[in-house]
Amino acid sequence: MSYITPERRMIQEQAREFTLNEVLPVANKLDPERGEIPMELREKMAELGYFGILIPEEFGGLGLGCFEYCLVTEELARGWMSVASIVARGNLLIGAHMMNAEQKGRYLRRMAKGEFLGAFSMSEPGAGSDIANITCRARKDGASWLISGNKYWCTFADGADFMIMIARTSEAPAGRRHEGLSMFMIEKARGTLPPGCSGSPIPKIGYFGWKTFELAFDNCRVPAENLVGEEGKAFYYATGGLETARAHTAARSIGLARGALEDSIAYAEERRQFGQSISEFQAIRFKLAEMATQIEAARQLMYFVCDQIDTGQRCDKEASMVKLFASEMSERVCSEGLQIHGGAGYTTLHAVERYWRDARLTKIFEGTSEIQKRIISDRLLGRGRNR
Ligand SMILES: Cc1cc2nc3c(=O)[nH]c(=O)nc-3n(C[C@H](O)[C@H](O)[C@H](O)COP(=O)(O)OP(=O)(O)OC[C@H]3O[C@@H](n4cnc5c(N)ncnc54)[C@H](O)[C@@H]3O)c2cc1C
Repeated sequence: MSYITPERRMIQEQAREFTLNEVLPVANKLDPERGEIPMELREKMAELGYFGILIPEEFGGLGLGCFEYCLVTEELARGWMSVASIVARGNLLIGAHMMNAEQKGRYLRRMAKGEFLGAFSMSEPGAGSDIANITCRARKDGASWLISGNKYWCTFADGADFMIMIARTSEAPAGRRHEGLSMFMIEKARGTLPPGCSGSPIPKIGYFGWKTFELAFDNCRVPAENLVGEEGKAFYYATGGLETARAHTAARSIGLARGALEDSIAYAEERRQFGQSISEFQAIRFKLAEMATQIEAARQLMYFVCDQIDTGQRCDKEASMVKLFASEMSERVCSEGLQIHGGAGYTTLHAVERYWRDARLTKIFEGTSEIQKRIISDRLLGRGRNR
């Protein structure tokens, strides 16, 4: 059975052409300068509907599935990972599917058009993998919530039009640390942090195109109606239903690895040593064969997971598997691509070093590789004691 129908092939080809013509040249210029994704590029993505692939047609989205979302994501990541990531800041950002009808009416149409893109603020200095350890507090004050505390790793905090953030609204009962967390929608002016919130960018080694912030909330006021979902249940929203986010990260990993493979083939054919093109050396040919095989294996698992998601079947274990496998594969493949470039690979004059730096991150965010292994092994063996 082929997952790639003629319609999907068209979507894929359109995204490929867009990436090669519009994303890649911008990435090659701006990433070395640590520049930001230009607004003009965002507008072109919006015209293609990329911020609303998963948003139902009744709210102005394309109403397509995780499969199409990941097809487009793989293509965009082949150009620039941050561009492949920013599509997730429209679509159905984590938590957006928990919105009530009034909130959906208020936000989804603008999200689909790319006019209302979000940041997600969950991590804290003491709460990374251990989300239940969140200490940011929200307390009721009349018709609003007042949020105070420190957040870490909030990507796009400045450029976003809103933040989805998680704070503690009640003490957790003994032994049930994951209870009492709530999710909030903080609307803000693009280019600034919300009133009552200050912060500064964290110096990263990659994932350029946007900034990642540490934030301090000091009585940041949020209207009561901006609570997303049920009070006290945010842990479940943040950790459940992550299959689409994991497939999306796999797609980003695969796109990066494909960038490394395609660039390495081109370089190997052009570079001559010992009187011949290095692509004639079996050592190089076998590296390329291995890279292509690993990419295809990850892609086929991703297609399977996307299909399971779109047909409403349980696939939490497989979604963790594809996130784990694709991100680990991506770093290995990008590193091999860098090796094929020799010294040239260790410069910022070739994109392969960027693919490698960005692939490194895919093993860390959206649940580290170790956390994915924990999820998979818990499904195989039952929940372990030594967690
Ligand atoms: C560039 C970047 C952008 C990010 N953007 C965002 C964002 O926009 N919003 C947001 O909320 N977060 C964001 N994050 C945070 C990201 O999700 C966390 O970094 C990630 O979840 C890991 O948390 P940590 O960094 O605190 O590592 P830790 O949780 O401290 O982990 C450290 C090490 O211990 C391991 N470990 C931890 N617990 C276990 C366990 N139980 N079993 C085995 N091993 C374990 C980990 O796998 C890791 O190897 C971003 C991070 C980065 C680096």
